[in-house]
Amino acid sequence: MITEQLTEIYQLLFDRFGPQSWWPGETQFEIITGAILTQNTSWANVEKAIKNLKSAHLLTPEKLCHLDVSQLAELIRPAGYYNIKASRLKSFLSWLFNNYDGQLQNLENLDTDRLRAELLAVKGIGPETADSVLLYAFDRPVFVADAYTARVAVRHGLIEPDADYEQLRELFQSNLPQKPQLFNEFHALLVKVGKEFCRPKAKCSGCPLEKLPHSLDIQYL
Ligand code: SF4
Repeated sequence: MITEQLTEIYQLLFDRFGPQSWWPGETQFEIITGAILTQNTSWANVEKAIKNLKSAHLLTPEKLCHLDVSQLAELIRPAGYYNIKASRLKSFLSWLFNNYDGQLQNLENLDTDRLRAELLAVKGIGPETADSVLLYAFDRPVFVADAYTARVAVRHGLIEPDADYEQLRELFQSNLPQKPQLFNEFHALLVKVGKEFCRPKAKCSGCPLEKLPHSLDIQYL
């Protein structure tokens, strides 16, 4: 039942919006950096920060590892919370260099549960960031259950409003085929509908999911 509902939602979104071609990023490390920088800010601001790092020829683990944290903070200033985010990037790099010789390719050998657990143990990396890294940088079948996902799922009666991140992730992850490309596209489509229609104040008229049963009576977000 849930599988059919999720499949219908996916199909309606895909039919309307088409492929979203996520995640923007030329390298695995750029995707990881973007996932860390995008917390609590718009993607446009992340792009400016990444552009600064690229222009300075610093967007590699080796270069950023040797960069002073205050210099890094200055370069990523457009992404907001730049001191916190600089220290998060540094924490990620410390973990990478202390445990995996600074080589992202060494992470490819880890199974998904182990890699997820290790990412979550890095200071400042929460479930949404870890899952974005796993899905978009490492092509693992992990669903990113963000606030957009939650809003659509709650309003369409797929999950209770008080469900936590793991319950929401489990809902999608265990009821869909374990295909990274599907999870990639589905998450991007949910972000798209969340930005254009399913905002805190929903615009159901004209939404691709309008014909499906939904309710706005729930006090949520
Ligand atoms: S805007 Fe309305 S129809 Fe669209 S996803 Fe949200 S609740 Fe559903």
